[in-house]
Amino acid sequence: MIKSLDIEPTTICNLKCPFCFGPKVVSKKTELNIDIWKNAISKFRNQGVENIVISGGEPLLYDNILEFNGSLEI
Ligand code: SF4
Repeated sequence: MIKSLDIEPTTICNLKCPFCFGPKVVSKKTELNIDIWKNAISKFRNQGVENIVISGGEPLLYDNILEFNGSLEI
């Protein structure tokens, strides 16, 4: 059973750290829309996922980050 997820709302980032494990996608057209994320997160929660780690990219550059965060609440 999956207990933990590590997800990236966006791979876009405004920094260029030399240790970045990229490659990073630079177009928002490749991001999943908020409804897909909310549906997926809900399904994983229902399957018993307890921990969700948000990484990226810079998550705050995702257009719907507040709504995304709201979907993480239990
Ligand atoms: S994704 Fe993380 S490691 Fe990569 S450039 Fe951005 S802040 Fe740095």
